[in-house]
Amino acid sequence: MCGIICYLGDRPSLPILLNGLRRLEYRGYDSSGVAVAVNEKIHCRKAVGKISDLAGLLGDKPWTGWGGIAHTRWATHGVPSPENAHPHGDCRDRIFVVHNGIIENYRQLREELRDKGHRFRSSTDSEVLAHLIEEYYRGDLEDAVNSALQRVDGTYGIGVISAGNPSQIVVARLGSPLILGIRDREIFAASDAAALMSHTREVAYLHDGEVALLKPGSYRIRTLSGMPMNRSVQTLDWDMSSAEKRGYPHFMLKEVHEQPEVVGEAIRGRLIEAEGLAKLGGVERVWSRLRNMRRLIILACGTSYYAGLLGRYVIESCTNYPVDVDLASEFQYRKLNLQARTAVLAISQSGETADILAVVREVKRRGALSLGLVNVVGSTVARLTDAGIYNHAGPEISVASTKVFVSQIAILYLVGLLLGRHQQMSLSEGQEFVHELRALPGRMRSMLARAPAIEEIARRYARHRNLLYLGRRFSYPVAMEGALKMKEVSYLHAEGYAAGEMKHGPLALVDESFPTVCLAPRDSVYRKMIGNIQEIKSRKGPVIAVGTEGDTHLAELADDLIEIPQCGEMFTPFLSVIALQLLAYYVARERGCDIDRPRNLAKSVTVQ
Ligand code: GLU
Repeated sequence: MCGIICYLGDRPSLPILLNGLRRLEYRGYDSSGVAVAVNEKIHCRKAVGKISDLAGLLGDKPWTGWGGIAHTRWATHGVPSPENAHPHGDCRDRIFVVHNGIIENYRQLREELRDKGHRFRSSTDSEVLAHLIEEYYRGDLEDAVNSALQRVDGTYGIGVISAGNPSQIVVARLGSPLILGIRDREIFAASDAAALMSHTREVAYLHDGEVALLKPGSYRIRTLSGMPMNRSVQTLDWDMSSAEKRGYPHFMLKEVHEQPEVVGEAIRGRLIEAEGLAKLGGVERVWSRLRNMRRLIILACGTSYYAGLLGRYVIESCTNYPVDVDLASEFQYRKLNLQARTAVLAISQSGETADILAVVREVKRRGALSLGLVNVVGSTVARLTDAGIYNHAGPEISVASTKVFVSQIAILYLVGLLLGRHQQMSLSEGQEFVHELRALPGRMRSMLARAPAIEEIARRYARHRNLLYLGRRFSYPVAMEGALKMKEVSYLHAEGYAAGEMKHGPLALVDESFPTVCLAPRDSVYRKMIGNIQEIKSRKGPVIAVGTEGDTHLAELADDLIEIPQCGEMFTPFLSVIALQLLAYYVARERGCDIDRPRNLAKSVTVQ
């Protein structure tokens, strides 16, 4: 989950490593550390808290080493403390390791190593790696790492440095991402492209079960069984400015404001206006299987799951295919008949989500068609699936997802259009659909222009402790996503519900101190939503409504109204979700929360 950055080259490594850690800060972490090789000795410092705390600890005595490894930790085993922070050293502080992931058999390995006389200083699972490598070290770091990894069960992305081979770093991965970056006489390795972007765009992706030996300006990749692998260098196309705040106080606000462009990017080159069609190059080679499927299952976690839920309503409206949506973490417990005529679409921003990887492997094993919808090019999900679609949304830095959500739904709408037009959707319906999609960026911009009004409303509700979010049909997943955003960034208790469920329980919570956010655009379920609002008002519950502009009836009924521009019924989520993202953002700001890095959360969840 956390982050790794490694560097070897002809510049002092410490500032490069610290800057890399700053770039990874957004992923969520609790402590950090750095180890640098100087004159055949390894210097290591670790700190709890922010990267600035670590930098403060290093003070004004910069080590002059040209190679080092650094880490931001998201604790899985052992509390956040300087001892538990990475890098972890061996008994003699000659070998240091940074690790992302979980070593599942660490207890057994630790017992074995203790019996051999190794002394442990942390309560992490990761520390066994340093001692295991020490145990196998006979002067060749790559060999020692390779032998150690044969003994390990679990997931890892690791970087290893040793005093004996100070101009080498060994990295390896199984289940956690690692990318190599190359520039002249320098080499980088990182868990996330964001840490490399300011140095190089030339990257090579390490695959699961591979170990790479890094030297200044070069790398060599082998599998764990020793087979040499050729890996060509690719050029990253992400724009550096995406990783900067560009004048916004928070990445979240910046990313909310980028959404019109993100939707534009998701649909660019993927619509054929005259034919009312969508064109998704990534799925062309599996088109006949996709078209002949009997059932589509969408699998995702968190915000992507709500995108999937909306995708179900959209794809089922456009086609005859039955669509199931499930949480990747629960899917593994279901007994399903997954045959060749089932297609599974896995949605993951990072393409590294642990639960998603587990289900994709299982789906493939059972012979179903596996598709991926991911933002990170070259990520594991992108490589594992039979075919897929990229978001092209650029890096999302805020832990709470906004722009990737709208990008995901835009693509699910394209899937609906693509499949629908090969079934009963008429040419004119297809053209109308294309027209609505093309109008979205403009409408989203006018929605964003309403931010000051939303800020005002947020100020009035920021001191409440609970909120209920209600929606129906296309607005139901938006209610769920809106509540999740509020929880994530403001730590308010927010509950999303299908409005039809209100009388089956949550209405009991409503009184004058319990506000409800009601999504009530003028659509096919408008009257029913108005009924729900009336029921809440009869119990003195405050109502913040999100409705279509000019709806005077709703304005009278609700305590506060956030207006969205007119648009086709199916397309309201693109506008109403902006209202709810901004509401969550401004409430969190009012409450003084750490908006881009909510407590306890991390950006991509690479452990199960
Ligand atoms: N399992 C390791 C620990 O708790 C690594 C966690 C991480 O990926 O940050 O230290």
